[in-house]
Amino acid sequence: MSMENSYNGKKVLVRVDFNVPLDKNFKITDDTRILGALPTIQHLLANNAAVILMSHLGRPQKKKLENGELDVEKFTLKHVVDHLSSLLNKNVQFSTDLVGKDARDKARELKGGEVLLLENTRFEPGEEKGDDTLARSLSELADYYVNDAFGTAHRAHASTAKVAQFFDSDHKSFGLLIEKEIKNANKVKENPDSPYTAIVGGAKVSDKILLLENLISKCDNILIGGGMAYTFFKALDGKVGNSLVEEDKLELAKEILKKATQNNTRILLPKDSIIADAFSNDANIQEVASDQIPDGWMGLDIGTKAQSEFTEVIESSRTVMWNGPMGVFEMSNFANGSFSVAKALAKATKKGAFTMVGGGDSVSAVNQSGLSDQVSFVSTGGGAMLEYLEGKELPGLKAIEE
Ligand code: AMP
Repeated sequence: MSMENSYNGKKVLVRVDFNVPLDKNFKITDDTRILGALPTIQHLLANNAAVILMSHLGRPQKKKLENGELDVEKFTLKHVVDHLSSLLNKNVQFSTDLVGKDARDKARELKGGEVLLLENTRFEPGEEKGDDTLARSLSELADYYVNDAFGTAHRAHASTAKVAQFFDSDHKSFGLLIEKEIKNANKVKENPDSPYTAIVGGAKVSDKILLLENLISKCDNILIGGGMAYTFFKALDGKVGNSLVEEDKLELAKEILKKATQNNTRILLPKDSIIADAFSNDANIQEVASDQIPDGWMGLDIGTKAQSEFTEVIESSRTVMWNGPMGVFEMSNFANGSFSVAKALAKATKKGAFTMVGGGDSVSAVNQSGLSDQVSFVSTGGGAMLEYLEGKELPGLKAIEE
């Protein structure tokens, strides 16, 4: 955001991510995403911009009412107005449409230092289709476009990417949140300090194939946990009982292990597991070697030997990236593995390493551990961060850069 001097009195259209969770009375239950966008909004207001905000909220096109109409009551961004007004200490105006008469009238009248929030971008069917006409109408509301919605940067939607083509490079930029996400992600993507350790977990190998392949060429160590570990054990002829296994990914798991060896990248699987006789926090549990799981039992967390080994590797690393929990951390009996990784990240950070939690459920796990302020960076990016780390080009970033 380097155009401070030119914003004075000008209209700036900002794509933010206000896709916040709401309870059944439409009260915001977690305002992290709104807080994330505040620095950019405040920065623009400090430069006397007329700030026009747009965001999606939920999936209104997929969750229409029985009569086929949009569920406006549920998905309106009006739910955000009061909270945003109190956070900014300023009255936030609201338009009941995105590019219709109300939005155009209010945008036209908006003065420097004022804020207007437009209705849910996804109320327009053209948004998710990346419709050029919609993108053009959006662009006509403002002099500048700022994209600060990292969480949707992997989508080529009208408001996240297409709109940018109607602004020249002097009139479009990233917001502070996106800048921060990119700066931090690049610390692990481009010339990370060695030893670089990635911890990859979560339910399925199939969700993390590209990530693993990309990491093999960059990392010294890859620690694998979560449900996906059992596909690897099965591929190595281990006994995994009823653990989550993707039978059609066994060959791929072998391929990944082979590629890692060829690249001199060490892949560590969890030596032992906490196993349960049901997918429940009340199930009977025991700790066994991860390739010796009896029938009727399933691995739901990494065991204590694995925790110690992973901790040691993480604490002796200079760069650490974590994506995906080590177990079913939503249940307290299977959260220790993820918490031990969070603790190790905090210790490595204290020793001077750069540590980042790169999106997805590991972000919830580190938040739950209470250690999120003791790691270098916790991404808000979710799927967008995963794709960025996989090495994909994100349409929302490309549209600003080109
Ligand atoms: P992901 O979105 O791929 O990061 O996966 C996160 C989900 O994986 C969480 O909801 C975890 O409960 C789940 N998960 C982690 N470990 C296991 C496991 N061993 N078995 C089944 N599910 C798991």
